[in-house]
Amino acid sequence: MHFTEPVYRNPYWPTFPLLQVTQGCTHNRCKFCTMYKGIKFRPQPMDIIEEDLQELAKFAPHAKTIQLLSANPLVMTYNKLKPILEKVNEYLPEIEYIYTQTRVSDLKNKTVEELESLKDLGLREISLGVESGDDWTLNRVNKGYASEDIIEQCGKLTDAGIGFWMSFLNGVAGKEHSMDHAINSAKIFNQCNPMLVGTGGLTLFPGTPLLEEAERGEFTPLSEKEMLIELKTFVEHLDCDCSFITHHTVAASLTGPNFLSRKGQIIDALEHEIKNGDFERLAEIRKNKQSL
Ligand code: SF4
Repeated sequence: MHFTEPVYRNPYWPTFPLLQVTQGCTHNRCKFCTMYKGIKFRPQPMDIIEEDLQELAKFAPHAKTIQLLSANPLVMTYNKLKPILEKVNEYLPEIEYIYTQTRVSDLKNKTVEELESLKDLGLREISLGVESGDDWTLNRVNKGYASEDIIEQCGKLTDAGIGFWMSFLNGVAGKEHSMDHAINSAKIFNQCNPMLVGTGGLTLFPGTPLLEEAERGEFTPLSEKEMLIELKTFVEHLDCDCSFITHHTVAASLTGPNFLSRKGQIIDALEHEIKNGDFERLAEIRKNKQSL
């Protein structure tokens, strides 16, 4: 198999088999991310994809699912993606569910009909690293799209019948805009109605522009307690009938389906942590994190 480091795969989806169809990230400019720094984006050549599929056909001939890597494979046009999905179906004829992650802006070059056609070839679930629905914040961290793009592109996925996840990056607006980030993100997520909302907390990694801004005093990171207050505000305003995942250390047990029926419970748990949390321990855990 041909993989380019770093190999990020969504751990909530089956992690075997994986198929790299692009390498790197076309954007590579989000101020908090170094994941694909120094890696030039390029689509995987078709002969390499086919070699990998031949290998998978030997070792996983009955595969029902597959994850396509890496950061944003759907940036490729419909005409480039369609033959790749056709090859997946040819070599793995029992495939039912193709997953991938991508950027919101990658969907712009596809019509609803094209997305429907990709769904018919098995593309069923997409994870979108949205991070915020607040325009000030999106612009501040250089995400490269605005809230209206999120609504428009997610609407296309809904119309095409493709399920999607949306992520909220807790803390990414800094102190300056924390509450607007929480409330406006929830508003936009509510309008998009994703099947799953995932939340993760900002860690300022070496080499990121956001860390440099923080060191110059131009960005004020949230404390661990303020992160939880922001997360609670986001949850309070979120009204999607979705599954909910949080990577917040103290809140791992809050992960699960049926968000709306558990919303009160989640808010209570966050409130409890805000009052009683061991924030020094949380800061220590964050200091030791290696990647997003
Ligand atoms: S956060 Fe995602 S879109 Fe932004 S640079 Fe990193 S990999 Fe690319």
